[in-house]
Parts: sequence; C-alpha cells; structure tokens
Amino acid sequence: MNDFPPAMHCVGGLAFLDRSSAIFRMALHMNPIVKDCIYYGASRIGELPVFRARLAARAAIFLFHEIQRDARSELMTGTSVALFEYSLNWLRQEGWVLVSLDECIERLARNDRSERYAVLTFDDGYRDNVSVALPIMERQNAPFMMYVPTGAPTRSLQSWWLGLRRLFLSRDRVSIDALGRQFLCSDLRSKISALAEVTRWVHQDYRRGAMLWPVFKESGISLEKLNDEYFLDERELRTLARHPLASIGGHSTSHPALSSLDGVSALAELADNRDYLEDLVQLPVRHVAYPYGACGPREEKLASQAGFQTATTTRQGRLYDHKLNPFALPRIGISSRPALRARMSGILEGIQALAKRRYIVPETQR
Ligand SMILES: [Zn+2]
Repeated sequence: MNDFPPAMHCVGGLAFLDRSSAIFRMALHMNPIVKDCIYYGASRIGELPVFRARLAARAAIFLFHEIQRDARSELMTGTSVALFEYSLNWLRQEGWVLVSLDECIERLARNDRSERYAVLTFDDGYRDNVSVALPIMERQNAPFMMYVPTGAPTRSLQSWWLGLRRLFLSRDRVSIDALGRQFLCSDLRSKISALAEVTRWVHQDYRRGAMLWPVFKESGISLEKLNDEYFLDERELRTLARHPLASIGGHSTSHPALSSLDGVSALAELADNRDYLEDLVQLPVRHVAYPYGACGPREEKLASQAGFQTATTTRQGRLYDHKLNPFALPRIGISSRPALRARMSGILEGIQALAKRRYIVPETQR
C-alpha cells in the first residue's frame, strides 16, 4: 500500500490522490463525490486536444492492491472488480498496450516510440488478485507484476491494516487507547470514516502499527489468520509464478518503511526477500516495490545493491522519457473512473510541474 498516499497505503481504494499537490492533498479528506467532480473536471481539461499532445506520456505503471468483488464488505479499501475491468477496457480503447514491466522498461530503454505502454502491478500478494483479477487479465491477455513481501506467504506479516479493518467490521464501538479515541460506528459510513482516521494516524509513524496489537488481542483478532485468509500461500505463489502472464517481484521481508531503518537492516530487508522469492519460485526476481513507497536516494542505492533492476514507488505519475531513474519509477493509483481519466490525461502532473516552476525562484533572484 504504499507513500502516497502514505495516508492509505495498503488500503488502496480510499487513497491515491497526489501527495505533491496541495489541492489534491485537501481533496483526500473530501467527500468522494466532490473528489470525483474535481477529477472529472480535470480530465475534461486534460483531454482537450490542445493539452493532449503536450501532456502525452510514453508509459504508465498501475498500482493495485486488493481487487474486491464486494468492496463495501471490505470498507471500500480495495479496487472494485468493476473499476478494475473498466480500467483495462478503457486503456485498450485509448490505445495503451498492456505489457509486462520487463517489456515496458526494455522498450523505453531503446526509445521505442511506436506505442504507449501500460503495466499492471499488484502489491502485497492478495488472494483476490488471482481469484478475481486474473480471469479478467487472462481475457485481456494482460501481463502483470505481483510484488510480494516474505511475511505474506509465510504468514508472519504484521498486517495491521487487515487487523484494523477486521476490528471496525466486527465492532460497533472501538477504542484505540494509543490514539486516545473512541469510535461509535454502527453503519458503513462511520466505519469507513473511522478506519480512514486510524489508518492516517498509523501512516504518520509506522511504529504506531504495533500499538494496535493490544486492541487486536482483546478483540480476538489474529493477524496470522488474516494473513492466511487474504494472502496467497507459498504453493499458490509457486503456481502463479509459472503463469505466462505473471511476474513476481520483491516487496521486502517484513514490509517496513525502509527509510526508517538503518542501512544494514534496510538492505537485508530487500536482499533477504529477493533470495526468499527466487528460492520459492525458482525464477529470477528483478524488480521491487518499496513498502509504503517510503524511499529516497539511499533506498534507491540499496535496491540496486540488493540486485534489483528496477524499483517502483507510490509517487503518482506516468513515464515520459526513456532516460528515467529505474529505481524511482512512479505509478498510477486510481480510486474511481474519473480519477483514472484525470490521472491518465496528465493534467494533474502538468499542474504540479507548473506550480513547481512558479514557486522555484531562479538562483539569480534569491
Ligand atoms: Zn505493500
């Protein structure tokens, strides 16, 4: 789940507005209908012929987590199957060719401008990526990358986001002592809102995830059981890795914010995960996604040192140039149809670039 939205990593559908834009940071807290109106307006502007050519990108990497048949029953934390299917159809209609990450990188490297490429990626290794999304991708012949933290198939992952969701689903009154808040949430709307608030609080400091263990324990919530329920196991991953459309990538051992660790520990998180996955699937593992998208120049070097060839972030954006940094690849996260169209129009990145230009004062004027 994953930096932007740091706020909602691993609870995909609620998030993925652009952290770098003040307007869209504000929009994170807005009513979804208001957000979609903004996205809709932005996409209409971005799709005007005058902007289309100027904002044209070469490729885009999509970031998904869970693909849910019934998003309401999971407190709207993933991507609905309808939005997922719509996205793939829309990409094809708009002339985006769905390719594997390897092929995308290879074509960009040789500056192949014949087509525009879209890559599908899934973080964390959720079961529904296979049970729900895979049949759709098979129909579309769409390759995909699944980034897997070791703790998911080994069931040791401290998946606080799953525990928190189960907590709000199973209780109408929830006390989070560490946050000093009590939530009365008997309906869907209040549960979604409470879950979002606590999730944002953890994303401000990931060590807070461990502060939730007492309430999980009190409520009889076992993260190991949730891991078993929601993540693919080792046997399933081995099978998936042999699927002609699938690639398996790294996502660290325990899914920490790498930037919060010392260098030795952060490198071990990446390298051990790569070794584990290569041993499990008996294939090379060349690509990694930073957990929570927490990365900077040091993590980029560590990813390279650990033997990866690319690393994806949760920074929102498309790929414009063949001279890109392979260890800081942006991705596109979407929460609705208007969000998809706005993101893919490039208008949000255009506004962001303009804002930077407006506020960066040249050396000579300082
Ligand atoms: Zn993740």
